[in-house]
Amino acid sequence: MSSLAVLHASQLVTLAGPKRRRVGSELSDIAIIRDGGMLIRDDRIDVVGPSNEIKNKAGDAEVIDARGKVVLPGFVDAHTHLVFAGNRLDDFERRACGDTYEQIAKAGGGIWSTVEKTRAASEAELLIQAKKHADWFLRCGTTTVESKSGYGLTPEDELKILKVMRRLTQETPLEIVPTFLGAHAVPRKMHADEYVDLVVNEMLPPVSSDRLAEFCDVFCERGYFDIEQSRRVLNSAKSLGLGLRIHADQLSNSGAAKLAAELKAATADHLEKTDEQGIAALKSGDVQPVLLPGSVYALGSTCYPRAREMIEAGLAVVIATDFNPGSSPTPSMPMILSLACTQMKMSPAEAIAVSTINPAYSLGRGNLIGSLEVGKMANFSVFDCEDYRELAYWFGVPQTHSVYIKGRRAR
Ligand SMILES: [Zn+2]
Repeated sequence: MSSLAVLHASQLVTLAGPKRRRVGSELSDIAIIRDGGMLIRDDRIDVVGPSNEIKNKAGDAEVIDARGKVVLPGFVDAHTHLVFAGNRLDDFERRACGDTYEQIAKAGGGIWSTVEKTRAASEAELLIQAKKHADWFLRCGTTTVESKSGYGLTPEDELKILKVMRRLTQETPLEIVPTFLGAHAVPRKMHADEYVDLVVNEMLPPVSSDRLAEFCDVFCERGYFDIEQSRRVLNSAKSLGLGLRIHADQLSNSGAAKLAAELKAATADHLEKTDEQGIAALKSGDVQPVLLPGSVYALGSTCYPRAREMIEAGLAVVIATDFNPGSSPTPSMPMILSLACTQMKMSPAEAIAVSTINPAYSLGRGNLIGSLEVGKMANFSVFDCEDYRELAYWFGVPQTHSVYIKGRRAR
């Protein structure tokens, strides 16, 4: 048995509390232990408490001296598109120079350029690039990442992307939760209904039988998949035992939040255009909103989702990076903490709760990760600052000191 003692953290931010998703004022109670410590045995947390107590029980454990540092549960990023080929630098430059989405698409940019490059890449090539992305997440203090397919849009290419995720889990310390997003866009020269047939008949069955994904997601939006098409994909996924997530109300208020509630989806993601009725529907369906301020920022928009209203309505809010090459090229949860505080008016404590314990529950892992409590996985990040609020405050400065996953140094 290997043991590890974390001692003298200026703040050990434990997130200890009720064994469920946190709502309302609970989001502000992040259970900090000053001069805190933890004893870790193998991959699990064995004792949490003041350093002097931990020291007495540490025996010959290897010591991590966290003096002058903050220790947090590893961030849990519940919405990313981690596996893709290439980048969208040309789109980025065009947008900076004032081009519209339509002009960029006409010039050969947009999601299609990523789909073409991803289709042309081999599994091995995609894996090399995905490992680089995985390392970025670790460097930002993230230990678990939900990752969606969706840049293949053929049965063969979607399965290829999901297999890359499986290898990524085996070959890097980062924990990946795979989501099948075959219905990310409608392939060229195909009608959406025809493509939904393909997703339902040719993609979902092998995804489910080979256990390549835990969740299914749909891009429910005008010009992509309407409510009826989204319902068909998600119902089919549900019957195969997959959990449901949905890209909802990003560009228009399409009623997708209500669909998420109807289908009892785990999450509805984006929600920039969701109104009071949509928020009420999420509440009635017990759906967790996943807010993605990085994409609002990177697209140069100011239409952030109504985080405060959602918290006041009692929703178990989550924030995530939406890491992807087009609209949110950041793997940095600290950057998202900054946006949550400055643009969505969350307190720094709320921002921490919605990037750790709440996303863990949204991924069906609330009993294992997301807080530093006895019995949970020893997934934690150590930061070079004395107060957790510094993570959201000093934006753009890397503050990660070290990262541990299942009790082992990952970065
Ligand atoms: Zn997304």
